[in-house]
Parts: sequence; structure tokens; C-alpha cells
Amino acid sequence: MVRISIPTLPPAPLVPPSALTLLAPKQAAAYLARFLDEGKGKTLVITGAGVSVESGIRAYRGKEGTYSNPNYKPILYHELVEDSPRGQMFRKRYWARSFLGYPPVRDSLPNPTHIYIAALQALGLAPNLITQNVDNLHPKARNLVSSSMHTPSSPSSATSTIPPPYPSRILELHGTLAKVHCLKHHHNQPRDDFQAQLAELNPVWDEEAKESERTGRRPRTNPDGDVDLQGVDFTSFVVPPCRICDPSGKDTTAFVKPNVVFFGETIRPEVREESLELVQSASRLLILGTSLATYSAFRLLKLASELEKPMLMISTGPSRADPLPGLEKMDREAGPVLRAYLDELVRTNTGPEVDAVRRVMDMGVVKVPPEVEGPRAEG
Ligand SMILES: [Zn+2]
Repeated sequence: MVRISIPTLPPAPLVPPSALTLLAPKQAAAYLARFLDEGKGKTLVITGAGVSVESGIRAYRGKEGTYSNPNYKPILYHELVEDSPRGQMFRKRYWARSFLGYPPVRDSLPNPTHIYIAALQALGLAPNLITQNVDNLHPKARNLVSSSMHTPSSPSSATSTIPPPYPSRILELHGTLAKVHCLKHHHNQPRDDFQAQLAELNPVWDEEAKESERTGRRPRTNPDGDVDLQGVDFTSFVVPPCRICDPSGKDTTAFVKPNVVFFGETIRPEVREESLELVQSASRLLILGTSLATYSAFRLLKLASELEKPMLMISTGPSRADPLPGLEKMDREAGPVLRAYLDELVRTNTGPEVDAVRRVMDMGVVKVPPEVEGPRAEG
């Protein structure tokens, strides 16, 4: 852990959440500074859809727990894996839509909040992270910050995986869209490879995809990389089986799905175990941009509360965890608080890691998603 000293305000008595929310940005940052300082490099960060909104990834759920797109009906796990002609139709429909919907997710870039969180990881202040997001943006941000640390003169784009200076962990609780998972023998392959295979097998759809790339008119994309298409016939779409199971492409039982947890699917036991271990080994939790609507994430805070670990949430709107004992909450966006904190940190500290963070702090990209009907909020 880097030794970081930040002039903080004199210790204030514990304030109720409403008062925390009302702190001015600098005071909020000072509060965060003390929280991280007392965490002694073992603070665990937990994030949700709120941190990705600025990258153009829209949240599933609105503030009232409704879908931000009222017409969107996500495909359910049992439909996707059904071994029947009906199941085959579900898979055709899913993959055709996902084929067109994935490129914007693939091309999305870390926003400032992702960069700030990666900086906390890289400085060893909060090395471990659990995210509910499947958009691969935390790994992209970590790679960007790590490459800045390894090549001081020219921070390059994050194309290959570069080891961070401190052991750090990103656990994607609900999986990642960057990989495709085989349900028969649990092979994983890069999504880009599978996407290329789909393009080859479905030239007409590939034309459609290229056309929308050219015109910039993309169908509305949901956070799982699925798109809304009305009145389109999916029957002709070809979905190949896992090519590791069967390179000939004839084994129709070797289904593949994106390596994400679908609605109606349970998290793999090893992922659940690891998430609980990360909470147990953490000194405290910093929760950013999430309403904790999914039980798999809420359970982590419940455990931390039972273990009497301090928890600070910086997130807008109500969350499922609000009544938990030990949770303090700033009802505000996390990005500006993290920014104010890091501004002070780089102003008052020196060293190669701090220099590297200074270089990447403005590299986050904000891409406002197109305005849609219905609420758009945390997930
Ligand atoms: Zn396989």
C-alpha cells in the first residue's frame, strides 16, 4: 500500500446519512479520505450499474425497480438452455439480437468513475473490487491505469493485460460479456471470436451490423448487449455450437451463452464463495453506484453488517441496503467525490504511483446514452 497522507478535517462525530449527503464536495472527499485511511489498504469496493451510466450503458432497472425500458423482456435462463425446437428458437432470437447489440458494449470506454476506482486499486488503497456489471469496463480501466504505471512516458491504450503494481482482484459477480461460455463442458472463449463466427455464418445480418456501424444508427441496446427489434424473423439466424466441444459444428447440444448470469440463473458456487471471502477478508466496504437490487450483491452487505464492518455507500436514490446497521450513505453521485479525493491526493503526495494516477485522471470518457422514455437510474 502506498503511504498516502491527506490533510483531513478534524474528526467529526458520526453524522446521520442526511447530513453526510449534504456535505460540500471537499468535505465529502475528506470524509472518504478518512474512511479509506482507516481501511488500511483493505477496503473492498462494490459497484453496480450506476458507475457505467456515463459510458452509455443503460441500467436495467429504474429507481422504482422497474425496467428502464418498459418494453424490454429479458430472455430467461431456462428458455435459453431448453433442449427442444422451442429452445432453439429462443437461442436464435437471443443471438441474432445480441449479435447486433454487442458492438456498442464492446466499444464502450471507461468513464471517469471507472478510472478513479482503478486508481484506488492501483494505489493499494482499495485493491479488491466486486462488480455487478458485465460490461468489462472495470478491467479496461485497470488496464489503462496499470499501463500508465509501467510506461511513464507514454500511457498506451489498454490492449493487453498488464499486471497491476499491487495484487488486486476484480470479481465480476454476474460474469462478463467479453466471454462466451459453453454449457456442455464449460469451455470459455473470447466473445470477439464467437462474434466473428456469427458474422461468417450470417452474412445478411453482418451487412445489417456493418450498415448500422456506418450510419451510427444503432438499435437500442440493453445492458446485456441485447437489442430491441420489432417484427424481425429470427428463424434463419445460424447459431453454431461450442467449437471446442465440436469443431465440425454439428453437435447441436453444445449450446453456448454469454458468460453472464441470466435472469432465473443462479451464480456459480465458486463465484459466490469468492465474493463472500472477499467481504470476510476486507476491513470495510465502499459501495458505489448501485441500488443493490440483486440479492447476490445485497447479501454481501448483509454479511458485512453482521460482521460489523463499516460500510460507506455513495450512490443516488434508495437502495435495498439502506436499513442495514452500520451503513452510512451519501445520496449523491460517486464520481465527483472520488475526483475531489484524488485531486487532493495528487496535490499533496508524490511518487511514481501518484504520478501515474495524475496522468490518467482525465482519461475517462463520458458518453451520454440516448434519452429514452421511463426512468433511468441505478441498478
Ligand atoms: Zn464446449
